[in-house]
Amino acid sequence: MADTKYIFVTGGVTSSLGKGIIAASLAKLLQARGYKTTIQKLDPYINVDPGTLNPYEHGECYVTDDGAETDLDLGHYERFLNVNTSQANNVTTGRIYQSVIEKERKGEFLGKTVQVVPHITNEIKERIQILGKSGDYDIVITEIGGTVGDIESLPYIEAVRQLMWELGDNNGLVIHLTLVPYLSAAGELKTKPTQHSVKTLMESGIKADILVCRTEHELSDDLREKLALFCNVKREAVIQSIDASTIYDVPNLMLGEGLDKVVLKKLSLEERSEPDLVRWDQFLDRHKNPKDEVHIGLVGKYVELQDSYKSILEAFIHAGAENEVKVNVEYIHSEYIDTKVLQNKIAKLDGVLVAPGFGERGIEGKIEVIKYARENDIPFLGICLGMQMAVIEFARNVLGIKDANSTEMNAGCKNPVIDLMEEQKNITQMGGTMRLGAWDCNIAEGSLVEKIYGSNAISERHRHRYEFNNKYKEQIEAAGLKATGLNPDTGLVEVVELPTHPWFVGVQYHPEYKSTVANPHPLFVGFVKSALQHKLNK
Ligand code: GLN
Repeated sequence: MADTKYIFVTGGVTSSLGKGIIAASLAKLLQARGYKTTIQKLDPYINVDPGTLNPYEHGECYVTDDGAETDLDLGHYERFLNVNTSQANNVTTGRIYQSVIEKERKGEFLGKTVQVVPHITNEIKERIQILGKSGDYDIVITEIGGTVGDIESLPYIEAVRQLMWELGDNNGLVIHLTLVPYLSAAGELKTKPTQHSVKTLMESGIKADILVCRTEHELSDDLREKLALFCNVKREAVIQSIDASTIYDVPNLMLGEGLDKVVLKKLSLEERSEPDLVRWDQFLDRHKNPKDEVHIGLVGKYVELQDSYKSILEAFIHAGAENEVKVNVEYIHSEYIDTKVLQNKIAKLDGVLVAPGFGERGIEGKIEVIKYARENDIPFLGICLGMQMAVIEFARNVLGIKDANSTEMNAGCKNPVIDLMEEQKNITQMGGTMRLGAWDCNIAEGSLVEKIYGSNAISERHRHRYEFNNKYKEQIEAAGLKATGLNPDTGLVEVVELPTHPWFVGVQYHPEYKSTVANPHPLFVGFVKSALQHKLNK
């Protein structure tokens, strides 16, 4: 078999233990020791991808350069590793079945009965090994979504069992993440849920090699010994994952626990040098010791669930550290905007970000906030729907086109300043049919965005159906809102800005997907800087 080593991460006891962060932190440490590492997430749900899911269901939908609509954990992988992921890094049950059923229809199974074992499990195994076989990686970490014992994870667990057998000794290992709850009435940490979870895994033929125990309190030596003995793992393979104040502390916490060393030993890989975390630690130091702070409003309709805007929040953390400023994000529900909110809340902010989104709910509130930010010189960043609303606001209130709108909100609108692209008009299927992934953009000379990016040619990720309607471009530009970023092939408007305002930028793409610890996104860095300036000028 290939030289690539495989690490499988499973979860037990409960969901939300932070498997994605543990996988990303381990990958970071292995990468920092010089191993080319990538991470993949297998999701047991039946949607082909999360693109059709409401953010309330599963948090943000993350988008890769190759246009895959993926689980938000891929965002963590990229932010930690500073390496691009792709469609191959996220696979769902829906996608597995879709491809097996397509093969069946083509007659590829030669008259055989198509079954979960072996056909579905073979497809899963293939998907796991695609990344390894690419030759690009020394180590592939595969995170299995869900919790062991779930009906829907069974084929994945069976695929892991078979792969572990096929890979042979020292080529694969299983990390099992569990919860060690603290019972305050007894004043004790409890190991039994972990024991049961490891047993459930064993019933499926998988022995956990490493336990990562999520806990609110330090695990004592005795408790670690007990877990090792009853769960059949080495003493050094009981790893504590204690609650951290920031997810960015987790790689160092795992380093302290020796997770990377246990992994390398089990995979017969050399430790090489100590992990190079210089850049990482610099970032952490700046993140934890800000010299000032700003308050930025995040205006959206999914603000009740923080995961809906995950990448935006993380991009603010990166940009804050870069500016040595703490960014306090204040959630502003776009459905409840009135004069009171504008005067009591928005007026006090140092910057306003109007978030991406779909559908009509809350858009008039977004438009009101943008008007306020434009007229009162408050730094403004509009992302995707936020940019589209900025164009509508400008058309309505500056050009006086009172019924200006997007055909997404009003299909029959007489002045569609935001409209469906021609090639989108005949699309009937919703899944995977938006303008997705990385597209080039030319930046106008002398513009604010040119200064921000330090470049005239950029590439950014998209996820939308509607566009700035170029029929209105001349009129809008003449009135002062400039289109300073254009797609070189189609002329589609990707960036608008208002040169008469201190910092007013709308982008049709999603800069937040490309912000990483090592490369904070220039637009967020510039926006936070302007927010600080605004605060100091007040
Ligand atoms: N709903 C808008 C569109 O489809 C914007 C999408 C977004 O904000 N991601 O064009």
